[in-house]
Amino acid sequence: MKILVINSGSSSIKYKLFVMPKEKLLAKGIIEHIGEKGSNVGNHYAGLKLILNKVNSIDAIGHRVVHGAESFKKPVLINNSVIKKIKQCCAIAPLHNPANLAGIIACARLLPGVKQAAVFDTAFHQSIPEYAYIYGLPYEFYSKFCIRKYGFHGTSHEYVAHEAARILKKPINKLKIITCHLGNGCSITAVDRGKSIDTSMGFTPLEGLIMGTRCGDIDPALVTYIMRKEKLDTHEMDILLNKESGLKGISGISNDMRVLEEKAKSGNKRAKLAIDIFIYRIRKYIGAYTAIMSGCDCLVFTAGIGENQKSIRLKITKNIFKHFKKAPKVLVIPTNEELMIAKQTYQLIKEFSPAGGGVSLDKRLRSFPWSR
Ligand code: ADP
Repeated sequence: MKILVINSGSSSIKYKLFVMPKEKLLAKGIIEHIGEKGSNVGNHYAGLKLILNKVNSIDAIGHRVVHGAESFKKPVLINNSVIKKIKQCCAIAPLHNPANLAGIIACARLLPGVKQAAVFDTAFHQSIPEYAYIYGLPYEFYSKFCIRKYGFHGTSHEYVAHEAARILKKPINKLKIITCHLGNGCSITAVDRGKSIDTSMGFTPLEGLIMGTRCGDIDPALVTYIMRKEKLDTHEMDILLNKESGLKGISGISNDMRVLEEKAKSGNKRAKLAIDIFIYRIRKYIGAYTAIMSGCDCLVFTAGIGENQKSIRLKITKNIFKHFKKAPKVLVIPTNEELMIAKQTYQLIKEFSPAGGGVSLDKRLRSFPWSR
């Protein structure tokens, strides 16, 4: 079965084509600058058309969808009611879900007979218990506005946790695993016997670890304090926290960890400080997640920094499990979110829809913004 995996972002569409269940990669690529000034790709419909010209005889499509809120605890086959629910999630993921949806609707229009599945970044974290996902705010903010911890990078955490179990030759339901996804965006998850029981990102991807340009955990009172001091509006504050902070903000040099390591080696103090803070925060989370799982059998590193920067991994793990009778295994596992999406799409079709058609769009959905 040929499965096309689509990651439709606001101005780009990445794709990979797999043969499943062989897990063979046939093609991959990216269409960039969608809808930007001077670009010859005006919208997602046009972008998808270009992709479909390069790949043919597709049996199914798997889409990455960033936010599934509480509506989606696992991947699903797409129909009109699923599309409507993903649309509802746009309110709490305005930067991501509309673009994901534009990809889904464009595919439904271009390939109406082909089955589509949605795989959510948040779904793996839907097993987090209430006491870990409710914030210390008036409860009405949860009941009225769905404000709670959701967590992200779920497909990556789930993939590397399962890979770890496979490598260790142990059933995942016997393992306590901490997965560290350290890329430009960074998050860490406690995977207790196959289930996410806590993760560092929150209502948005801003919470938790220090990231390339995101601040991670800060005292929330700082937000209004800085806004008053610097006379910033909400949009400017949002940019400060998401794009000007983290490694870039602390070092004043770059969000790229490779650059920072070079600079730190040649004596730059702020680069060294940024790395030290990055490492300290991860160690703190590893300690916390070891405590909530009453142990840890395995620590997994993945994504750009986690996979490639051994020096950073060594600093994170230095003496961290000294008091353990049996030190956890430390594994480096390249993440492969697209393969995970292809696997889950394949599984869904095998289980629920071995025969049958694609997505027949409601009239109103055909005119969704960005889809034409
Ligand atoms: P994203 O979250 O954008 O997918 P990546 O997983 O590509 O990010 O990670 C980017 C981070 O990984 C940067 O800080 C970069 O310096 C670091 N890095 C280190 N080695 C590599 C490498 N070989 N390729 C890509 N990124 C790397």
